[in-house]
Amino acid sequence: MNSSLLAALSRIVGRQWVRHRRAELVTYAMDGLPTHESLPGVVVIPGSPEQVREIIRLLHVVRVPFVARGAGTGLSGGALADPDAVLIALTRLNRILRVDPLQRRAVVQPGVVNARLSEAVLPFGLHYVPDPSSQAACTVGGNVAENAGGPHCLKYGVTTNHIVALEVALPDGSSIRLGSLHGEPWGPDLVGLFVGSEGMFGIATEITVRLERIPQSVRTMLADFSTVRAASEAVSSIIAAGIVPAALEMMDRACVAAVEASIYAAGYPTDAAAVLLVELDGQSDAVEAETALVRDILTERGARAVRTASTPADRARLWQGRKKAFGAMGRIAPDLAVQDAVVPRSALPAIMDQIDGIRLEYGLTISNVFHAGDGNLHPNISFDRRDSAVIARVRSACRDIMAACVAVGGSITGEHGVGNDKLDYMPWIFDAETLGAMRAVRRAFDPTELANPGKVVPVHACREWTAVKSTRTPTLRSGHS
Ligand SMILES: Cc1cc2nc3c(=O)[nH]c(=O)nc-3n(C[C@H](O)[C@H](O)[C@H](O)COP(=O)(O)OP(=O)(O)OC[C@H]3O[C@@H](n4cnc5c(N)ncnc54)[C@H](O)[C@@H]3O)c2cc1C
Repeated sequence: MNSSLLAALSRIVGRQWVRHRRAELVTYAMDGLPTHESLPGVVVIPGSPEQVREIIRLLHVVRVPFVARGAGTGLSGGALADPDAVLIALTRLNRILRVDPLQRRAVVQPGVVNARLSEAVLPFGLHYVPDPSSQAACTVGGNVAENAGGPHCLKYGVTTNHIVALEVALPDGSSIRLGSLHGEPWGPDLVGLFVGSEGMFGIATEITVRLERIPQSVRTMLADFSTVRAASEAVSSIIAAGIVPAALEMMDRACVAAVEASIYAAGYPTDAAAVLLVELDGQSDAVEAETALVRDILTERGARAVRTASTPADRARLWQGRKKAFGAMGRIAPDLAVQDAVVPRSALPAIMDQIDGIRLEYGLTISNVFHAGDGNLHPNISFDRRDSAVIARVRSACRDIMAACVAVGGSITGEHGVGNDKLDYMPWIFDAETLGAMRAVRRAFDPTELANPGKVVPVHACREWTAVKSTRTPTLRSGHS
């Protein structure tokens, strides 16, 4: 980065909030996915939305690309910046600006940590529903950009269902407001368009979220199975019975072993091939009736045992094992490639067999922990990135897993986004016209394509929108949210 740009950035935020030495930049060279790495040119850490806009205005004038970064827990390389780009870290914008318990709304800055928001509104009997397993670290801004999900999104919907309004700094430094406090879209649903745009449409500087009441009653069950197939079939049977649990999560034997050997041990049976964590919530009577029904289905489908958490502490322990499973996998190897794909629920048994085949073929350690209720898989590959031969096998295995998911009618991401990791797979599920349409939408927000360049839309595979719009209406296949 040239020194005049560093000086100009320092004038906006103060010198201590501009990081450009190699040792400082290394912190920002990765997100949560250890297969991709890039040192940004400079990192700037603004302290207000106005500073964000000023930085972007400056970069627009000098035509320097920029990348927004929340907590850097993303799992698709989305928050990585090239050496010619400026990384704008939003962690100082961490204030909860307003809570309105009557309207059940909160207005927050983008750097607010997800779990902190729910803690802050707990005294009002409310919570913010989307609960990525990274919620102790990830930011609401990052959640908006990725349209994050989480265990409790099966029943209540992912991030897009919980955002009602946004203030956005556009890539030319101007500011727009999308949506409304009441959640009724005025005009086209531009909030829906922005959520999941992975930092390519600008930077969310203020976010208004919907809050939900804490349910009257909650029941959490743990069921264990002697085959992954039986557990997968139990998942389909529960949904087929018309029951939508608040959460329906699966962990396989390798995952359970890692959790039980760690400080997050939750009492999962280590001899099971798979365990299911099923949570039901709502009015007490309904929850009791559904609990009995789910218990019967689990037993009919071959569960060896079904245990119901008897106290809030017991429930918290069952969840801790699930939510800290990725951390527990740190015991297996120094690096973990968390993959993310989605398949039709009915394809779960077959795809789990295929993933196991890929594991054997490449001689890798793969453990599975995932949102089974909505078919959102997370095959996790443990490896050591200092071994370049292993990295090649990891990359090939990731690719084969994605191809297998697409082949059964699935998609290349359920909730972690495309970033740069999945760029090459986009043409597998979208044709050139549709990719061209995506690029055209991106250009509506960012004509100069300075915001998070090189991510999500593979430019080489796009047919220019202007060339086709008069003859054909591209259809957007739903895949990534
Ligand atoms: C252990 C672990 C568990 C996880 N579990 C889940 C899970 O259950 N569900 C799930 O969905 N994800 C999960 N994730 C992935 C990750 O936590 C989410 O994608 C999260 O939303 C990223 O938030 P972040 O603040 O870390 O964003 P970052 O990683 O910093 O950035 C992610 C993307 O958002 C963009 N961005 C960040 N802030 C803004 C902003 N204010 N405006 C515009 N763009 C912005 C960045 O440019 C980047 O493209 C997990 C990750 C880990 C490490």
